[in-house]
Amino acid sequence: MEADAVVVGLGPGGEQVAEELASAGVDVVGIEAELVGGECPYWGCVPSKMIVRAADVLAEGRRIAGLAGTSVVTPDWGPVARRIRDEASDSWDDTVAVERLEGKGGRFVRGRARVVAPDAVVVNGERVTARRALVLATGQRAFVPPLFDTVPHWTNREAVAVETLPASLLVIGGGAIGLELGQAMARFGTSVTIVETAERLVAHEEPEASELIADVLGREGVDVHTGATVERVEAFGSTGATVHLEGGPALRAERMLVATGRRSDLAGLGVGALGLDEGAPAIPVDGRMRVAPGVWAVGDVTGKGAFTHVAAYQARLCAADILGHPLPEADYRALPRVTFTDPEIGSVGLTELQARANGAVEIYSEPIPESARGWIHRGEGLVKLVTRDGLVVGATSMGPTGGEVLGLLALAVHARVPVDALRSMIFAYPTFHRAVDSALWASSSAAKMAGA
Ligand SMILES: Cc1cc2nc3c(=O)[nH]c(=O)nc-3n(C[C@H](O)[C@H](O)[C@H](O)COP(=O)(O)OP(=O)(O)OC[C@H]3O[C@@H](n4cnc5c(N)ncnc54)[C@H](O)[C@@H]3O)c2cc1C
Repeated sequence: MEADAVVVGLGPGGEQVAEELASAGVDVVGIEAELVGGECPYWGCVPSKMIVRAADVLAEGRRIAGLAGTSVVTPDWGPVARRIRDEASDSWDDTVAVERLEGKGGRFVRGRARVVAPDAVVVNGERVTARRALVLATGQRAFVPPLFDTVPHWTNREAVAVETLPASLLVIGGGAIGLELGQAMARFGTSVTIVETAERLVAHEEPEASELIADVLGREGVDVHTGATVERVEAFGSTGATVHLEGGPALRAERMLVATGRRSDLAGLGVGALGLDEGAPAIPVDGRMRVAPGVWAVGDVTGKGAFTHVAAYQARLCAADILGHPLPEADYRALPRVTFTDPEIGSVGLTELQARANGAVEIYSEPIPESARGWIHRGEGLVKLVTRDGLVVGATSMGPTGGEVLGLLALAVHARVPVDALRSMIFAYPTFHRAVDSALWASSSAAKMAGA
């Protein structure tokens, strides 16, 4: 088989490249080992956010007391499982996505491809040659450390597909996936314990965010262990696990979710045929997603940020480059990240610690409860801006709509909006994003500005 372009892996990144090329009249073959659409719609972003949305509604119901009367909240996982099955994943069936690609003129092959030359892969025993472009978009999979692999466990895949929740859940990993699913399931009544090796949850975010989310989870009854070293793991009953912490308690639960990160399988993909290191964590790409002449890569497999919006951004650059009208090169300065806990933790650009490594910075911050909207809502969180030479180089927006407020801050980083321009702006009262204005004008921030 031959085609102008061969796209391996049809998650959000590869699917977009294949569809854009096919729409432009390029002869494309898309190859997918599992489901067209990839991790995001079937086992990732979409089902997890449906779970989070449902859990947030429960939490709002419980907040009626003291604000609007009384409430009795009776969680039911049934509607969540149904939405994930019927609306998010179509019962884990990709017929619609395959037809969409074919409807645009692309050809589709189901199978696991292996690169055998810079212009060819082998799939289902057949060689597929790329006349113009080979695009690698094979994503990542959950990484389960060997210590946990020998006992029954869930990854995100099993967790989002459950029909009924366990009575107790051990979550290994205090990053975005572990916290989102852990908090949500706890709100449905599961007794949740989170174990994190690092000294704090969401360890890549600002310490203030880590501290607050640990506090919120604790108040919601989630048992959080940070700085924990797992000594030994053994099966508990037929489905569960017991985790022994060094110098700490033995933790056991009916189920264990391992959310300790995700990895690409470059050896399985055979990138050695491109002269690349198969033991590397990612495929190196330039600003136009080029790997080598005639070869491009997009999405999680490039290691530039494991987010659907990164895959989509890179896919646009990649398709444009293949079509011969390249866009400006990739710029990740304003890459936004959102952990969809409640409160949401949104961040963009550099943290204070990262920025300080390269010189002096000025910090502006405001707790959400001190802003009018935060106080009215009884919301929690903070806004924090990291600035250098009068420009915002990073920001955190943690709060009831932290991910939405982040848009303003991402724009500031992306467009290099001067702090003075932000300070002279009129922010609607009383909104959550007005906390940015308060941060910029707060006396504590002014003191920090003055170096106090
Ligand atoms: C629980 C969870 C929640 C998430 N929530 C969010 C969120 O809220 N926001 C966000 O932006 N991101 C989120 N993500 C991350 C997001 O899902 C990924 O960043 C995104 O799916 C990456 O897209 P991709 O195209 O690079 O790879 P993938 O979606 O991983 O797709 C790669 C595809 O390649 C296929 N493949 C692999 N190897 C081969 C081969 N050799 N031959 C053929 N096919 C192959 C795979 O089967 C897969 O379908 C979440 C992830 C998880 C797990």
